[in-house]
Amino acid sequence: MTSIDFAPIARDLRSLKLGAVLDEEPLSRHTSYRIGGPARVYLEPTTEDGVVTSLEWLKNRDIPYFILGQGTNVLVSDRGVQAVVISTSRGLKDCSISGTTVEAGSGVLLTKLSHLAERSGLAGLEFAISIPGTLGGALVMNAGAHGSAMVKVVKSVRVWDPVAGVHQISADEAEFEYRQSRFQRYPWIALSAEMVLALGDHDHIRQTMRHFMAQRKSTQPVGEPNAGSVFKNPTPLYAGQLIERVGAKGWRIGDAEVSSLHANFITNVGQAKASEVLHLMRRIRCVVYQRYHVILRPEVRWIGPGEGGARATWENLWFEEGVGLREPCE
Ligand SMILES: Cc1cc2nc3c(=O)[nH]c(=O)nc-3n(C[C@H](O)[C@H](O)[C@H](O)COP(=O)(O)OP(=O)(O)OC[C@H]3O[C@@H](n4cnc5c(N)ncnc54)[C@H](O)[C@@H]3O)c2cc1C
Repeated sequence: MTSIDFAPIARDLRSLKLGAVLDEEPLSRHTSYRIGGPARVYLEPTTEDGVVTSLEWLKNRDIPYFILGQGTNVLVSDRGVQAVVISTSRGLKDCSISGTTVEAGSGVLLTKLSHLAERSGLAGLEFAISIPGTLGGALVMNAGAHGSAMVKVVKSVRVWDPVAGVHQISADEAEFEYRQSRFQRYPWIALSAEMVLALGDHDHIRQTMRHFMAQRKSTQPVGEPNAGSVFKNPTPLYAGQLIERVGAKGWRIGDAEVSSLHANFITNVGQAKASEVLHLMRRIRCVVYQRYHVILRPEVRWIGPGEGGARATWENLWFEEGVGLREPCE
């Protein structure tokens, strides 16, 4: 792989005046795990135009890029990312409500959307009150909880892609499934989404949200650095139950520890490295496979170079391709 000189790229991006451009920005500052080496260039466009201009600019020069929301569902390599990391947090923040339709930029926090809907007496986004992260990340993951998910409310998404530019796709085209969407297989960048909610009883909506938050606090290590569920549930089974049954609660490698509150959470109890989290994931996967013949699939997404030194483009971010988690006990 030829290495890319990012210094002139950062300089040229600065001259475009799209927003802050940071060199060697530690991604541990931008992930809920508090883990991750530096992004060669970290860009924070301040408008949607800025996001689109930067994407076009990078695509035209064949420069690798990666989109980051709030970093609550990612594990970033200790070696960092040889790419321009584009944050959606500043540029994609618009939000409006008309009747029962909510339109929001993909950098808007899901919890903010949940509160906005509640204040407008709209039901449907109560589940989102306990999910950290942005709307964009939630679309990619079809985030869900408490028996609901994004698929139930999304009507359409405005996307940018390297071939067609900015256009709108329907929810059907996004192919939402359990913690999956076409966003994970195709280089779409979500710019904004239209969600259709239902008129609801204000007090009931608020009570439901309170109940969900309380439930969350009593069952998950809220407040400790983590990235939510590490593995997807191998439906109809629950990853957390299988991991608990093999006695993994409390397992620790370096500063990465399997939560004693919820076995499908790995927490960073100090200065954990991505390699330590991966090591723990491998051990869990192997033991669960040996005991139950179930292969756990990661829900957390890997960001960084693969073992072959591949560039951090959208298609090689899977654990299976990048870091040798294809076989459960390799
Ligand atoms: C304590 C805790 C609890 C959690 N509980 C839940 C839960 O109950 N249910 C659940 O589903 N998840 C849960 N999660 C996981 C996480 O919050 C969600 O997956 C969330 O939707 C991720 O949003 P994000 O902005 O942080 O995405 P990021 O982690 O920043 O990104 C996730 C992926 O989406 C991509 N991406 C982000 N924005 C865009 C965009 N605009 N366009 C294209 N690609 C984009 C990134 O490149 C990356 O591949 C939890 C996490 C934590 C830390």
